[in-house]
Amino acid sequence: MTPELPPAWARFLEERDVARDNIRDLPVVRPVDPAEVRAAVESGFGFERPRPLEQVVDQVADLLRRWTVHVTHPRYFGLYNPSVREAGVIADALTSLYNPQLAAWSHAPAAQEMERHVLRKLAGVLGLDADRTLASFTTGGAEANLSAILAALAHRFPEADRGGVAALPVRPAIYLTEESHHSFLKVARMTGLGTDAVRRIPTTERFVMDPEALRARITGDRAEGWSPLAIVGTAGTTGAGMVDPLPRLADIAAQEGAWFHVDAAWGAGAMFSARLRPLLAGIERADSVTWDAHKWLSVPIGTGMIFCRHPDALRCAFAVDTTYMPGASGGGTVDPYAVTAQWTRRAIGLRIFLALAELGTDGYAGLIEHQAEMGAELRQRLSRRGWEVVNDTPLPVVCFTHPEIRAGRVTTTKLLRTVYARGRVWISDVVLGGRERVLRACVTSYLTQPDDVDVLVEEVEVAMGR
Ligand SMILES: *Cc1c(COP(=O)(O)O)cnc(C)c1O
Repeated sequence: MTPELPPAWARFLEERDVARDNIRDLPVVRPVDPAEVRAAVESGFGFERPRPLEQVVDQVADLLRRWTVHVTHPRYFGLYNPSVREAGVIADALTSLYNPQLAAWSHAPAAQEMERHVLRKLAGVLGLDADRTLASFTTGGAEANLSAILAALAHRFPEADRGGVAALPVRPAIYLTEESHHSFLKVARMTGLGTDAVRRIPTTERFVMDPEALRARITGDRAEGWSPLAIVGTAGTTGAGMVDPLPRLADIAAQEGAWFHVDAAWGAGAMFSARLRPLLAGIERADSVTWDAHKWLSVPIGTGMIFCRHPDALRCAFAVDTTYMPGASGGGTVDPYAVTAQWTRRAIGLRIFLALAELGTDGYAGLIEHQAEMGAELRQRLSRRGWEVVNDTPLPVVCFTHPEIRAGRVTTTKLLRTVYARGRVWISDVVLGGRERVLRACVTSYLTQPDDVDVLVEEVEVAMGR
């Protein structure tokens, strides 16, 4: 132990105390004028003369604290951005210290094996056979979804490797819904499939994919020269936290010869809980699964994962030969650059490795279930005060509206403006099923307590003028 900390680190630890212990004292969000932020940054840093690092750290910490929507705040009921466990912060610092290069196994054996070990554990949590699954860390769900579709293409149309999708005799289609994540539009462009290949299947009144409509659409599409490349089931939709009927989709994918991808970027966290796990039944039948540790597992942003039951498909999709990369290490090791989209690769897996080692799987189950309970509390408290909850899920995403909103006397936009100006909570709004704009609140912090839920209800009541 260092008896006296170097000043820059001492300042860092001061800030850590604010972020970790006193986050409730900060507004979740505050009004911002872009010109003011830009001026503060530009006038504070000319980059001309050297300066003591502790001064720089002090100034940067102040900027970040002042102008950030505090997603780690227990009253940030927002998109899937969590409070982070300290283990993740320390993992990032350790990783930066040695800067292990994970492109090839041979450069970073310890980090590679830690990533492999934790990915195998998490494959088991998903119900996949770890021995038959190739899993990798990604920058996030978007990269994981891209990897899944590239694997599906390589699996089904290996000839597209050279000729590209334009040379295929059929047009590959991806089936999903309006509630699926919009990263698939980017994936369609990046893969050369084109956005027409994204076929949106209608949802039921519960905002989940209608399997009969899927079947009918595939039949119709085949007649027009399309071929079902992949069916995407979402486990925990971004808007409403709903889970598509995964077993039905798995059946249809099997019958149609389509790849079955489950986008569980956020929802897969529920697999830690024996109580919530049955909701995601069918995920174990997926050809590939997207899971973001940075959504519900309380680790820093930039920690996605792809799990794939067809290692050869990933090898076909990403393998290249070079003369400058270190050779394969043997012994059952994998060089990540040859099975993923990235080349130079950071050891991001250490964030979840350290957090899981600290908490254990039961510890994680506890955090997940606590958040689900806070979601249930929120549902109850809103309903008691005359708000209408419009989505039905045990997962902690609560979509709600009010008779005054439905009658068109108040808009969600106006209501949110008041909520943000007061800065005590952050919530958002969303259009569900292409039908109705509603308010959305998600419990994303393991620190959220019943009192925080009360503040949320108070704030929407105040914004409603009551
Ligand atoms: C967040 C999300 C994504 C995108 O993941 P990123 O980590 O933001 O790249 C994909 N799918 C779903 C269902 C999501 O919620």
